[in-house]
Amino acid sequence: MIYLDYQATTPLAPEARDAMLQWLDGPDGTGFGNPHSPHRMGRTAAAAVELARDRVAALMPPGGQVHFTGSACEAINLAMRGSVLKGGSKQGRVAISAIEHAAVRDTAYVLDEPHIIPVDRNGIADTRSNLPGDTALVCVMQVNNEIGTLQPVAEIASQAKEAGALMLCDAVQGMGKFAAPGGADMIAVSAHKLYGPKGIGALWVRDGVELDPQITGGLQEKFRSGTLSTALCAGFGAAAQLAGERMQADKDHARDLWDRAVELFDGWEINGSTEARNHANFSVRRDGLDVARLMSDCREVMFSAGSACASGSGKPSHVLKAIGLTDQQAKSTIRIGWGRYTTMEELEEAAQKLINAALQQI
Ligand code: PLP
Repeated sequence: MIYLDYQATTPLAPEARDAMLQWLDGPDGTGFGNPHSPHRMGRTAAAAVELARDRVAALMPPGGQVHFTGSACEAINLAMRGSVLKGGSKQGRVAISAIEHAAVRDTAYVLDEPHIIPVDRNGIADTRSNLPGDTALVCVMQVNNEIGTLQPVAEIASQAKEAGALMLCDAVQGMGKFAAPGGADMIAVSAHKLYGPKGIGALWVRDGVELDPQITGGLQEKFRSGTLSTALCAGFGAAAQLAGERMQADKDHARDLWDRAVELFDGWEINGSTEARNHANFSVRRDGLDVARLMSDCREVMFSAGSACASGSGKPSHVLKAIGLTDQQAKSTIRIGWGRYTTMEELEEAAQKLINAALQQI
């Protein structure tokens, strides 16, 4: 089996796994303590949580706090609902880019009809589009999950500031690969996209920004209730530290694989900018390709049809539509995603399998 779906999730780094184990039980059996308990076992666990928080914060801008959540979806819901529905009254409208992940997009539509910031054919959000006067929150992601394009977050954050709105950046696909997005008031991230465990995310909140809690019952994380898992926090912290240390090495490795993939997939169309992007996300299409058939013909290669979150819905992806693809072009798109542990041999073997199977069809 060859795993090429790193945007859906990443393997757990051995370093993150090691950091987690002692908090599941511990060599002396005391690692399971509740990090919110005042006794010694609790305080030891709390110290591990705070170390993890510092490690995640090291990848965030200065001037804010990291709040752990159960996922990035939860972090995004807290940021959006908690800032727009303050005290039960709506603060104003939400503006989102046309290519946001469902976590942002669906939440925006639950709150109201959002203002949509368009993207160009390269999949980059328009920094000249005017925000409506009553905008309370602007949401633009750092890196798109389907096509990998890098967004002008700092420019849009200053537009939001001018309009008197808060800015949320979904940095799930960018954390550990790029420097933290500048100018945002809130940043949502997820451990399992950077070689950490599933089941933990975080919301970074700029000092001075107050949110209405969405989960009540103790408020252990200031705006969020629930007992933290020391093991998940420790795993997230170790993964974040490693991602920071390896950022350039991981980037160089991704770029080498990208350059080879471009050669191998000669004649296929690449979706989105080839430069302003995460070079570990290869979204390509070929006219007439039947993606469902390709998946069934290449079961030993783990890749995605469009986005893992949208695939299965049967609807053409809103991201591919937003960059101007027809339904047919969107449906003939596959996303191949690699990362730290992908070898050149694996990429070449998988590419040959995919290309040969596609040639049988076309
Ligand atoms: N935002 C983006 C861009 C994503 O790619 C994902 C996951 O696919 C999420 C948010 C949701 O993350 P989580 O799985 O932690 O809820």
